[in-house]
Amino acid sequence: MRCPFCSFQDTKVIDSRLVAEGDQVRRRRECNECGERFTTFEGAELVMPKVIKGDGTRQPFDDNKLKAGILRAVEKRPVSVEDVEKSILSIQSKLRALGEREVSAQVIGEMVMDALKKLDQVAYVRFASVYRRFKDVSDFRDEIARLESKDS
Ligand SMILES: [Zn+2]
Repeated sequence: MRCPFCSFQDTKVIDSRLVAEGDQVRRRRECNECGERFTTFEGAELVMPKVIKGDGTRQPFDDNKLKAGILRAVEKRPVSVEDVEKSILSIQSKLRALGEREVSAQVIGEMVMDALKKLDQVAYVRFASVYRRFKDVSDFRDEIARLESKDS
C-alpha cells in the first residue's frame, strides 16, 4: 500500500481490526519512509452479477423483478412481507457469494424455487409451473389443487 503523503511504496500495518460487523477490515498503517500514519478500509468487493437471459442477452440484476415474481407466487398465501424480504436478501447474498460476473437466469430461478419451497408449497408450485414451462400443465394444476385443498 502506497503512502498517501509521500507516495513511498512500503507501509506497515500497525493495527488491524474487523469493523462493519465483520464485513470490513480497518487497518492502521504507518509509512516506513515519512512515518505518517493513515487508515485503510478493506472489504471483499461483492457486486451483483449480470443476468444472462435465455436468449443470451445480458441484463443488470433487477431486484424489483425478483420481488414481483415472488409476490406473484405468494399472492393470497399465508406468507408475510417480512419473509418475502428475507428470501430476497438471502437470494441476493447467495448470488454475490457466487463471485461470478454473470449468472444465468436459470440459476436465479432455482434459487427462488428453493426459497419458496421453504416458505410455502403452493407458492413454490405456482412459481415452478410458470418458470419451468412444463409440458403437461394439467399435472401442475392437479398438484396445486391438491396442495390448496390440503391446507385450507
Ligand atoms: Zn510516507
